[in-house]
Amino acid sequence: MKTIIINVTVVTMNEQRKIHEPGFVMFENDIITAVGDMKDLPEEAGHLDTKTVDGKNGILMPGMVNLHTHMGMIPFRGLGDDCKDRLRVFLLPMERKAMDEELVYFSTRYGAGEMLLGGVTTALDMYYFEEEAAKAMDEMGMRGIAGQTVMEEGACDFEDPYEALAHGEELIKKYQSHPRISACIAPHGTNTCSKELLLEAYRIDSSLKVPFTLHTAEMDYEMDYFRKEYNMSPAQYLDSIRVLGKETLAAHCIHMTEKDLLLFKEKGAKVAHCIGSNTKAAKGVAPVSAMLRLGIPVGLGTDGPASGNTLDIFTQMKLCANFHKNVTRDRSAFPAETIVAMATAEGAKAMGLYHLTGSLEPGKQADLVLVETRSVNMFPVYNPYSALVYSANPSNVEEVYVAGECVVKDKRLVKADMAEIRNELSQKMKKTEFGIYMKNC
Ligand SMILES: [Zn+2]
Repeated sequence: MKTIIINVTVVTMNEQRKIHEPGFVMFENDIITAVGDMKDLPEEAGHLDTKTVDGKNGILMPGMVNLHTHMGMIPFRGLGDDCKDRLRVFLLPMERKAMDEELVYFSTRYGAGEMLLGGVTTALDMYYFEEEAAKAMDEMGMRGIAGQTVMEEGACDFEDPYEALAHGEELIKKYQSHPRISACIAPHGTNTCSKELLLEAYRIDSSLKVPFTLHTAEMDYEMDYFRKEYNMSPAQYLDSIRVLGKETLAAHCIHMTEKDLLLFKEKGAKVAHCIGSNTKAAKGVAPVSAMLRLGIPVGLGTDGPASGNTLDIFTQMKLCANFHKNVTRDRSAFPAETIVAMATAEGAKAMGLYHLTGSLEPGKQADLVLVETRSVNMFPVYNPYSALVYSANPSNVEEVYVAGECVVKDKRLVKADMAEIRNELSQKMKKTEFGIYMKNC
C-alpha cells in the first residue's frame, strides 16, 4: 500500500535540516520512499493504488521521541505534587502496596494513547512488569523500548533483583526480532543498585546492543552519597566500575561537572534531558549547552506522569527553550531548530534507533506527525521550527503514523478508544489501596 501526504511543510530533520515548503512525503507499507517539493511530486500521486492525504498546509515532522518515561505511573499523576519528599513518602510505598501486572498494563495503554495523540511515536519506558508494558505499547501501535527496572532492595514485581535481571534478559531476547518493540534492562539508579548489579545489567544490555539506561546525577542525596563514599560524582563512579559506554543512556544528569561531561564525551554516553520533571521538583537545570557544545547526544524525556504530569514532548520543547534561555541569559540560545532536533533526530540517536526513525528520509520507517496549522494558536507561521516549539501543543496533532500505519486520525486514536482505556484504568485503580495514601500529604 502506497500513501502520499501532500500540501505540507515537510520538516525532514535530516543532516542538512532540509525543509520542503510546500512538500510531500510518500511511503510504501512501513518505508518512506520519497520526500520532496510539491513541484517534484511523483507520478504515483494520481494512481488508484496510492492513497493521497491532503495535509492542508500543516507541518509534517518526524514522530517525536520520548527518551525517558514510566508509563505505568499514570495512577500517580497529580499526587503529592507540592510535597517535599514525594518519592519516599508516597511513590515507593504505594508502588510496593498497589502496583501489579494489570495496573501496569492498563496504565501503559493509557500512556501510549496519550503519547500518540501528542505526536510521540517512540518511547523508552522504564518500570516494573515491563512484559505488560511491551505488550501494551505493541497493541497501541507505537515504537518503543520496554526497560525492565532492577533495584537492589527488590520491587513490586521481583523481590530478588537478580530474578528481575533474568526476566529482563528474557524480555530482550523475546522481542529481538519484533519490528517496533524491543526491551532492555534499566537499573533504577546509580546508588539504588550495587556495583555487581550494575555490572551484570551493563554486560547484558551492551552484549545485546540495547540501551543501558538509569537515573543519574539527579538527587541531592545521590550526590552526597557518592561524595562521602567514593569522593566521586555519580558519572565518575559509573566510569570507575566500567559501565559508562556507548550503550549508556543516563536520565537527568542535572549535577554534572566539566570532568563528568568530558567522560561522557570520551565514552560515547548519552543523556535523556527531563526539564519539566527536574524544574518542577526544584532539582536544577542540567548543563545542556555544555553537553551540546561537546557533541554529547541529548534528547528529551517527560519522565513519569507523576513527575512531569504530561507525557507530550511539545511541553518539554517549550520548557527546554524557556529554562535554558533564562539560565544562559541569552535570548538566542537554544534556537527552535536545535530543540526540534532534540525531540526527534537526537532523541532517536540517543536511543540507538536513528537508522529507523527520527528524520524523514527515503529508506527510513514512516513515523510521521501531521501538525495542523488552522487552530487559533497556529496563525501565522513564519518558521516551522518556531511554530512547533513556541506555538504548538498536543491538541494540534491531526494525524500520526508509526511504521506506515495510521494510529491517529482526525485527532483520535485509530486502534483503540481513549475513553474505554480511561474507564478500564479507572476501574482497576478503584480496586487498589491508593486512597489511604492520598490523604497523607
Ligand atoms: Zn525517571
